[in-house]
Amino acid sequence: MTTFSAPVIEIRDLHKSYGDLEVLRGVDLTAPRGHVVSLIGSSGSGKSTLLRCCNLLENSQEGTIRFEGEPVQWQGSGLNRHPSDRHQVMRIRTNLSMVFQQFNLWSHMTILQNVMEAPLTVLKQPRAEVEARARALLDKVGIGDKADAFPAMLSGGQQQRAAIARALCMEPRALLFDEPTSALDPELEQEVVKVIKQLADEGRTMLLVTHDMRLAADVSDHVVFLHQGRIEEEGPPETLFGAPRTERLRQFLRATE
Ligand code: ADP
Ligand code: MG
Repeated sequence: MTTFSAPVIEIRDLHKSYGDLEVLRGVDLTAPRGHVVSLIGSSGSGKSTLLRCCNLLENSQEGTIRFEGEPVQWQGSGLNRHPSDRHQVMRIRTNLSMVFQQFNLWSHMTILQNVMEAPLTVLKQPRAEVEARARALLDKVGIGDKADAFPAMLSGGQQQRAAIARALCMEPRALLFDEPTSALDPELEQEVVKVIKQLADEGRTMLLVTHDMRLAADVSDHVVFLHQGRIEEEGPPETLFGAPRTERLRQFLRATE
């Protein structure tokens, strides 16, 4: 084993616009291996866009993104910049598995099929091996008995746990969570929070966008407060939540209480 350990994700001076709207205005962010970095901020502050840039679901106009030290290659300029290497895009999407607010399960497939689909078709791994891993992951998130059910038969909390199992089945280097609990009723939220805490305890690298300040305080090594596309304040959760320095963060925290 090498002791070299570049951050899983390293972003420098990222700028991203949609037309005239500059959504990210020079963001720096580092997610070291084994760390949980949470992103908080008002709706529209650019949190989802930042996550989507990390796994190349979005193009950016300026700045650099490195994945495990490897610069993500772009070509062209301005709005025409795009990743130059298809294989790199696939590798990065495989390695940075994303969990969305709306679980996005395929409704015509069983839960087990949902979890197995990408390792089978994208990674082309042997079915028996994938199935064993998928079943173990469904057990791990507490829905082993739902393997043969269809998504519509599950509660929102169960569907989101299936979506987490699906992300894990790719054996990613990091997980990207975009408000994984915000579509859920409060009582179902806790089932998902429990799974996220368990993953944090295992030392998984995670970028977590959440409106749940208690969850962010509990699991994060580092918290980033985004305001209008810029990092307004960041630090360890104790400082950020315990002694916020900026009025904007104080206001935001008061509003989320
Ligand atoms: P957050 O996740 O913090 O709520 P987003 O990253 O989703 O914020 O959005 C940031 C801003 O970018 C918002 O003003 C939003 O309307 C705008 N935006 C997001 N996606 C698009 C898009 N595909 N096209 C145009 N504008 C977008
Ligand atoms: Mg969002």
